[in-house]
Amino acid sequence: MHRRKLLQWGLGAFGAGLLPLAARADDDIIGDILEGKIPTAAPVPPAAPPVALRPTPVDPPLVKAVVDPRWVHLHNIHTGEKLEAVYWENGAYVPDAVHALNKVLRDYRNDEVHPMNPGLYDILDQIAKKTEAKSPFQVISGYRSPATNKLLSERSGEVAKRSLHMDGKAMDIYLEDVALEHVRAAALDLGRGGVGYYPSSKFVHVDVGPVRKWSGT
Ligand SMILES: [Zn+2]
Repeated sequence: MHRRKLLQWGLGAFGAGLLPLAARADDDIIGDILEGKIPTAAPVPPAAPPVALRPTPVDPPLVKAVVDPRWVHLHNIHTGEKLEAVYWENGAYVPDAVHALNKVLRDYRNDEVHPMNPGLYDILDQIAKKTEAKSPFQVISGYRSPATNKLLSERSGEVAKRSLHMDGKAMDIYLEDVALEHVRAAALDLGRGGVGYYPSSKFVHVDVGPVRKWSGT
């Protein structure tokens, strides 16, 4: 048998279960085969199917979700400022958009700007998709400075002393073209963060804190 043929046979045998021999130099093994030290007629078990080489099936909608840009459309009812921004694309948050959104969501009472948790925009993006909203989210409250939160909690027993608004992790919103209860239902459906329902005040509170729900007035 030609030496090259033997070499091919030898390599095939390693794959089929003679792995300990792999530590030895090829020439040694071929030499052993030629000298009859390794039984060339040894039965070769069928090769295992190449499981690891099979392409991993990918769910097309998942790929789409990763590739699709995410946008958010806001209207701050106190300042009249509107912003429609792609805040996430190519797998990352867009710093300029996140910065501009922080500004729109500032404490309008004293103009204090605080970084907002961009996970909030993911929640809004999902609510907009679920409700097929075409109008911007009307923002009643985004960031609240400690001074503003203190003022509000003194006025109303419904404002927590240590609100997630103070950490840039909550927003109070509504949509002009979607019933409030549907906004609430869409938010609850996501199973992310807190959802407070305030039907008399006409807004839904969403946050990126632990999952929970409650109703206010
Ligand atoms: Zn709130």
